[in-house]
Amino acid sequence: MLEIKNLHVKLEEEDKVILKGVNLTIEPGTVHAIMGPNGSGKSTMSYVLSGRDGYEVTAGSATLDGADLLAMAPEERAAAGLFLAFQYPVEIPGVGNMTFLRTAVNSQRKARGEPEISAGDFLKLVREKAKTLKIDADMLKRPVNVGFSGGEKKRNEILQMAMLEPKMCILDETDSGLDVDAMKLVSDGVNALRDAGRSFLVITHYQRLLDHIKPDVVHIMADGRIIKTGGPELALEVEKNGYADILAEVL
Ligand code: ADP
Ligand code: MG
Ligand code: MG
Repeated sequence: MLEIKNLHVKLEEEDKVILKGVNLTIEPGTVHAIMGPNGSGKSTMSYVLSGRDGYEVTAGSATLDGADLLAMAPEERAAAGLFLAFQYPVEIPGVGNMTFLRTAVNSQRKARGEPEISAGDFLKLVREKAKTLKIDADMLKRPVNVGFSGGEKKRNEILQMAMLEPKMCILDETDSGLDVDAMKLVSDGVNALRDAGRSFLVITHYQRLLDHIKPDVVHIMADGRIIKTGGPELALEVEKNGYADILAEVL
């Protein structure tokens, strides 16, 4: 599904190297988690995968189902099946959630060379997804994220993810200060969307999130590299002992 090889990234504006050879392979249908100390490059990696400006890839590759992600424009990456959960965090006054979701679906279709979804099919799809995720129909009528609580924004993010039916979902929850309820929303959403053809990469500080999501593989990132990979027990070890032991083991 997602294959990152020897990825080196520096800031475009400065001579600051952030990713120093990231290797990561995510198989279809699996959930991977990345933990790691602040400033280790976790968010940078997801930004680079999404095609955000300001970063320069100096070596390495990233492919999605064999296609070169780094050569694609951001909207082509979304069309290829990549979804980043921080993609739409903004409030958009005056734009109804339904309109927004339909625009997102149609821009993905356009990038794929597919016709626009009909109003009827869209309505059917959004109702079906909202039902699966136990999302109140009321939220669909409101302007995007305006006056939404933190939990509602999370719910909406998961709905956006469900509507786009991505193959590879990246959730960077690192700095969002999820409370227990929001954590439950995110994990229920991820669990509802788990599928043999869909993979997740969950970036988190919180072992508790992984109690609910139950990742197949856990990675620790430090200083721009993945320094350790293991099963869910690795997250428990971090929760118990912090990163010091793992860092000492490797560095
Ligand atoms: P993490 O998500 O693991 O906390 P980040 O990817 O946010 O780490 O940051 C990795 C390092 O890169 C940090 O030292 C951070 O300060 C630096 N960094 C990332 N983006 C920028 C930027 N646009 N300008 C300056 N420094 C940056
Ligand atoms: Mg950080
Ligand atoms: Mg971060």
